[in-house]
Amino acid sequence: MQIAIIGGGAAGFFAAINCAEANPDCRVTIFERGKSVLEKVRISGGGRCNVTHACFDARALVQYYPRGQRELLGPFLRFGPAETIAWFEQRGVQLKTEADGRMFPTTDDSGTIVACLQRAAQQAGVQVMTSSRVEHIAPASSGAWQLQINGDERPRIFQKLMIASGSNPAIWQLLRGLGHSIVEPVPSLFTFNTKDTRLRDLSGVSVPDAALRITGTSLSARGPLLITHWGLSGPAILRISAWGARQLYDLNYRFPLEINFTGDKKIAEIQEELLRLKTAQGKKTVAAHPYPDIPLRFWQQLTAAAGIRPELRWADLDKKTVQALAEQTGAATFQIAGKSTFKEEFVTAGGVFLKEVDFKTFESRLQPNLYLAGEVLDIDAITGGFNFQAAWTGGWIAGRALAEVRG
Ligand SMILES: Cc1cc2nc3c(=O)[nH]c(=O)nc-3n(C[C@H](O)[C@H](O)[C@H](O)COP(=O)(O)OP(=O)(O)OC[C@H]3O[C@@H](n4cnc5c(N)ncnc54)[C@H](O)[C@@H]3O)c2cc1C
Repeated sequence: MQIAIIGGGAAGFFAAINCAEANPDCRVTIFERGKSVLEKVRISGGGRCNVTHACFDARALVQYYPRGQRELLGPFLRFGPAETIAWFEQRGVQLKTEADGRMFPTTDDSGTIVACLQRAAQQAGVQVMTSSRVEHIAPASSGAWQLQINGDERPRIFQKLMIASGSNPAIWQLLRGLGHSIVEPVPSLFTFNTKDTRLRDLSGVSVPDAALRITGTSLSARGPLLITHWGLSGPAILRISAWGARQLYDLNYRFPLEINFTGDKKIAEIQEELLRLKTAQGKKTVAAHPYPDIPLRFWQQLTAAAGIRPELRWADLDKKTVQALAEQTGAATFQIAGKSTFKEEFVTAGGVFLKEVDFKTFESRLQPNLYLAGEVLDIDAITGGFNFQAAWTGGWIAGRALAEVRG
């Protein structure tokens, strides 16, 4: 059985290897338009490759996927992070877990993952064709597929075809031609730009637990927040950028962001805490003695924004200023104007409409013998190894299904 895989990325390699290992009668060929394969794996996680996440309950795991949550539950029950860890371990790669649950190779080098996948592909007899751009796909007779590669005049015939081309507009266009609907692609996992003076010269300062809300939407997120040269980043921002990928695109990335720097404390509770500090440390200056967990340099900006002079003592805070300071601490609004790429990891939200795919096999419901996995689908997650996990899961299940001979 001749099997073609379009795309030499995480999903394509995983499908190819698992197909060839499951059925040695399959002749599997990966077509990769680039000069080399697995480029995103190589650059991923800052060169360390965040392979997966130590989350072993499928129901908890799907919560990290703004798109694909419902569809991935079944697939994760079959091949989730535990199976991914075992898969790599069986092929000589040990993974380790960091404090936040992210999993990396113990070598801290993405090259370990790339080498493992290339070796496994070679051992399973997978043929890898680089500099091979698939330009056209069309159904051939008896349910087979014909592919046009690099402008070749004669198309090549394959019994089964898998598309693992990532977020590639030309392939989405071909899929539209085959009747598939494509959910408009928009970026996900980005940071926010703002020129707010409260953040000036604070690049690198972080707040351990901030709660974010985007005014006029139902979007919210919680977690550590990092101040950058351009604005705001950190887990809380990346999270809200993923959940709000489409809405924020529609807002042209211009919107008011409300931040509670205390996490979940209400304004009244913050006021109470400020009054407690007023009593406890009356002789100390407000600007130099911050609210718990707020970094000193940032607190100085918040106190200035509340109209507090640097020499003002806690004992001299009046009611109105306590109120203003509580608002700066628990409900500060920042005008966001644009986004920046988060260099460590980014993905595209959008892709093949999920209702058109059978998630038992990752086969198209519209075109028999056509399989789809990875970022080509309208599936994406927040940062933490979840995006690769979706690629491994889809690649593994599709690979097994590709290997099956239809009666
Ligand atoms: C900088 C960066 C860091 C990241 N870090 C992480 C991380 O640490 N952890 C994590 O979980 N996720 C990470 N991600 C996300 C992750 O890389 C993707 O979700 C994942 O690579 C998707 O795999 P894929 O196989 O679907 O697509 P891709 O990896 O994009 O592979 C698709 C392949 O198809 C090829 N192709 C496209 N069109 C054609 C064609 N017509 N003919 C032939 N070949 C074609 C492309 O050249 C490409 O090689 C990161 C992303 C980026 C950009």
